[in-house]
Amino acid sequence: MGIRDNLELVNKRIGEAAAASGRKREDIKLVAVTKTVGSENIREAADLGVTSIGENRVQEIISKYEDLKDCTLEWHMIGHLQRNKVKYIIDKVSLIHSVDTIALAREINKRAEKIRKRANVLLQINVSGEESKFGMEPVTVRDFLQQAEGLKNIHIRGLMTIAPFTNNPEEVRPVFARLKELFEAIKAGKSEGVDMDYLSMGMTGDYEVAIEEGANIVRVGTGIFGARG
Ligand SMILES: *Cc1c(COP(=O)(O)O)cnc(C)c1O
Repeated sequence: MGIRDNLELVNKRIGEAAAASGRKREDIKLVAVTKTVGSENIREAADLGVTSIGENRVQEIISKYEDLKDCTLEWHMIGHLQRNKVKYIIDKVSLIHSVDTIALAREINKRAEKIRKRANVLLQINVSGEESKFGMEPVTVRDFLQQAEGLKNIHIRGLMTIAPFTNNPEEVRPVFARLKELFEAIKAGKSEGVDMDYLSMGMTGDYEVAIEEGANIVRVGTGIFGARG
């Protein structure tokens, strides 16, 4: 199947999962994950209605951003971000999903201030405690929020997680449910400069379960563009 058919199917499934949790298709933002995907295929996706794309490497953002200047696209940084690379993408991205240390938050704040921007960020949470994953542990989030209080040029908009890989998405349903709980707890806490608007969870193998558990951003790559080479 090509990008057109894949997208149609993904959109249909998002709509069904949204309905199952009392929401509508338009309540869920689809971020098409374009890592390793060439600019021409991204352009095709954009022509088919994709408005948000996700990349996990700074270098790919820089080169594709230039190629696709004429397309109206929101760029999402979804991968691990090194502090020394923030300066290359701060002016290009709409949302950074992967803030997991206060040092990174401070660097984003500093670079955003320089260009008079308030950077939208999500906190990446390692819900499952897998050692290989980036992300802060749920118990450290309160401390993080306190330390981030003075950072006027970042706007914390929600949470993101990557669930452990599994062939059976039901296995990771509890991971999504736990992140949703944390999301609601932070929302109830009403911290200054923090708005829990976005819950970014779910990839090709598990986005329907993630939506059922409350995700309003899903990040789908393979399901749209096919297996990465
Ligand atoms: C690659 C990637 C995705 C998309 O993965 P697929 O399984 O291809 O849908 C989503 N989120 C992050 C952080 C990724 O790195």
